[in-house]
Amino acid sequence: KLFNELQDLKGNIRVYCRIRPFLPGQTGKLSVIENINENGQLVIANPSKPGKDGQRSFKFNKVFGPDATQGEVFSDIQPFVQSVVDGYNVCIFAYGQTGSGKTYTMTGPDGATEEEWGINYHALNHLFRVSQSRRNHILYEVGVQMVEIYNEQVRDLLSSDVFCFESLSSIHDLVIVIFVFLNPHTVGITTISQPNGLAVPDAKMHPVISTSDVLDLMDIGFKNRAVGATALNARSSRSHSVVTVHVRGKDLKTGAVLYGNLHLVDLAGSERVDRSEVTGDRLREAQHINKSLSSLGDVIFALAQKCPHVPYRNSKLTQVLQSSLGGQAKTLMLVQLNPDASSYSETLSTLKFAERVS
Ligand code: ADP
Ligand code: MG
Repeated sequence: KLFNELQDLKGNIRVYCRIRPFLPGQTGKLSVIENINENGQLVIANPSKPGKDGQRSFKFNKVFGPDATQGEVFSDIQPFVQSVVDGYNVCIFAYGQTGSGKTYTMTGPDGATEEEWGINYHALNHLFRVSQSRRNHILYEVGVQMVEIYNEQVRDLLSSDVFCFESLSSIHDLVIVIFVFLNPHTVGITTISQPNGLAVPDAKMHPVISTSDVLDLMDIGFKNRAVGATALNARSSRSHSVVTVHVRGKDLKTGAVLYGNLHLVDLAGSERVDRSEVTGDRLREAQHINKSLSSLGDVIFALAQKCPHVPYRNSKLTQVLQSSLGGQAKTLMLVQLNPDASSYSETLSTLKFAERVS
């Protein structure tokens, strides 16, 4: 039923909103959230304009309030993940200012328990489970890549090079593909060409044969991102991280092959940087983030409007995600909000971004 519902999506784009709770120690803060209703309507209140005049209403396919658990969020995302096994390309990305819960939603908190797992872990776990259990005559291969896009450069987060600190200075385009045969009799590694990916001749390959292996790899990837963070000052909030899961299913009876991919994206913080106050590297970062987020917005806007020309080539981000944006692909945008009244103007600009693309 949910799958049919997904097929009916207008332009195949869905937008969910998630408001994170106040954190421990943030007691007594004023919230911008006025009302959340079942039908996906969110009302926010401008703290400096009390009363009805300061209220604005936004409509989503779904709104998750501060009490929503990771499991509840994933249960509404699972049909997207499921459709990857059926040969669809899917993109799920989290958008919002730094501190609004993007990483929490996509990955979970540091050292997450299974209950606190973010979408990445649930999605991979689900894909492995489905592909192992349901269709015996189909042989599935699952491959995982993790890259970071920083200043319009793509960096492989799973390359062993990245472990050496020095190599951070020689950022180059590199993509690695890990292949997993899920049939225990044919455990092995292979590569397939990526129709729209960035080709990399000397990519390293990692043998992985279980969900936990993939989870370990993802942890390595996220740690590599963190290495960048200490070196370059909280870089993780100024880069996009993209986990790509490739699923290829071969029907052993008919020889038919299905291919689907899933992009799981933790975007750079969307906060506006005051141009009069930043210079040098920070200004360059801010300009790159601005450009890539607005390119993403333009692509999704063009798709939602069914424009004949979709401007994928304007940023590395949209190039990397191209296969899962548009055409038959399903796109899910998770709009993350910080409830704090002091974030009102950022919250409003996040909501306006979402409004334009939905
Ligand atoms: P971002 O990635 O957007 O910068 P984070 O995911 O790092 O934001 O979240 C900021 C802080 O809020 C972190 O300490 C995180 O653990 C916490 N947090 C975010 N969302 C939730 C949530 N739904 N429940 C509990 N804590 C959350
Ligand atoms: Mg983050």
